[in-house]
Amino acid sequence: MGKIPENILNEIQDKCDIVEIISSYVSLKPSGRNFKACCPFHHEKTPSFVVSPDKQIYHCFGCNSGGNVFNFLKEYEKIDFIDAVKMLAEQTGVKLPEYRSHDDQDASVTSTVYSVNDIAANYYSGFLEKSGLSSESNRYMTKRGLDGPIIKKFRIGYADSSWRAMLDYLSARGIKQDAILNAGLIIKGKENSYYDLFRNRIIFPIFDARNRIIGFGARVMDDSLPKYINSPETAVYKKGQHLYGLNFAKADIKEKNFAIITEGYLDVITCHQYGVTNAIASLGTALTAEQIRLLKRYTHNVVILYDADQAGETASLRGLDLFLEEDMNVKIATLEKGHDPDSFLRKFGKENFDEAIKKSKSLFTYKLDILKDKFNSTEPESKAETIKEMLSTINRVRNAIIKAEYIKLLAQELSVKEDAVWEELKKVKGTPRHSLRSGAGQAGCLEHGAKKFIEISPAEKILARLMIEDVNVIKIVRDELKPSDFKNKDIRNIAEALFSIDNEDSLIDINKLINSIEDKVPQNIISFIVNEEVDIKDKERNVSDCIITIKKENRNKLLKDIQNRLHVAQKSGYEEEEKRLVEEFNQLMKRGL
Ligand SMILES: [Zn+2]
Repeated sequence: MGKIPENILNEIQDKCDIVEIISSYVSLKPSGRNFKACCPFHHEKTPSFVVSPDKQIYHCFGCNSGGNVFNFLKEYEKIDFIDAVKMLAEQTGVKLPEYRSHDDQDASVTSTVYSVNDIAANYYSGFLEKSGLSSESNRYMTKRGLDGPIIKKFRIGYADSSWRAMLDYLSARGIKQDAILNAGLIIKGKENSYYDLFRNRIIFPIFDARNRIIGFGARVMDDSLPKYINSPETAVYKKGQHLYGLNFAKADIKEKNFAIITEGYLDVITCHQYGVTNAIASLGTALTAEQIRLLKRYTHNVVILYDADQAGETASLRGLDLFLEEDMNVKIATLEKGHDPDSFLRKFGKENFDEAIKKSKSLFTYKLDILKDKFNSTEPESKAETIKEMLSTINRVRNAIIKAEYIKLLAQELSVKEDAVWEELKKVKGTPRHSLRSGAGQAGCLEHGAKKFIEISPAEKILARLMIEDVNVIKIVRDELKPSDFKNKDIRNIAEALFSIDNEDSLIDINKLINSIEDKVPQNIISFIVNEEVDIKDKERNVSDCIITIKKENRNKLLKDIQNRLHVAQKSGYEEEEKRLVEEFNQLMKRGL
């Protein structure tokens, strides 16, 4: 941090309203002087996410996530501080100073990949446009029923069969070979020669949720294989972390409160052309936890749309259990045999499509229907087999009530005793891992943050609160304690920031305070403190009591430490050391607090 001058941060914060910014992502309802909503960072039914227009701070009392408007964007958009500042600077029209530093090298590689991709996308789409109606590529577009506006919107393009067209084009524009390689547009051949990765294919740019092109998918126009090739992983494109079409669909997903997940590029594009604008695709067969968490920012409800041919495969159903682990509601819709969303929409239109979506079944019902078809469920053995398969799914449902209802339903459907199903559930191996998975992202961190907060001693918590609320308290505490006197490292962090506040200031600027701290947990603690309505009576006495308590705790710790060392010295017969420690002990006792 510290790279962007404080006055610039202040200017940005002065020009934007946290309520306005957050309400473009979350629907806020007024509540007294504040606004409330269900937290976008953890799943909840009753709102504990509070935004204060007076303080320009938000805090969730459920997961303890909180901070100022920069923190919100960081968390929500999963971007770093600098990007959050840039985003708001752009919106508020504040000019950022040009800055470059060594650790920005990564950032410059990423931003170069974005811009190289953008230039490449323009080239591909220009090529498609120019290649004339009778060209193979445009005949293919017509065959797929794609119209001009949708081709433009999704920036669909065409790469011709040349081996060097892209390489030559980008090089002629002064882009270095390294940068083109970093973007994954060329590959290395024999004797250090390079050639274009995409040749004679229709090109689908892949966007991230913020509308930047992160890579490309390329499809052949005939039946040759491989049907698709995609960009390799680059600094900005990581497999399993993005959802195709989310940039176009996210607003509608939020509005309709559900997303339709299809298989591929063309499904998504056709859906959008027909006005089904909450459709996205997984960019690969199995959805990952990262993708589900990305989607969860916009909705907790998904409808999976399968091609009729693979709908019956239980293996692909197992992947859907992941949604349950992430506490999402998942339904499955099927289309008439022989159709995918693309062909279905073109033949039957949007109304019939909407109807099919309406008829989608819950994962539970869908899976049970398939299993009942597969096994003859009157035989005890096949009933047991069906139940076993169903329980692996039910076991992942996080809500205890829903879980119990499913067990009841399963017992009824197969006419077995409910107790027996519960008995079998105990045998299901592997409890859901929830947030324990590696790279658990925000959920994991926040739980961590909340836990950290509980661990803080009352004296440190109260003192931190009183200092944040009153600049005069800081002056008193600063005379009595050093930051290192605070046991908790996050409170220490906050104390350090508070102690360095200008003596002249008569009011603490909370936003400035948060910006001066880098770690998330102390930032969350500050937003918690300023948003929690606590009325501490007799402040002065509380301040002095807390100072004394902290001093006492520290002295006791020191004494204990000396005693331990004394014990060792006595045991090993180090008389000199022993004498010195006894002296130290007595001094400390005499000195008082
Ligand atoms: Zn929360």
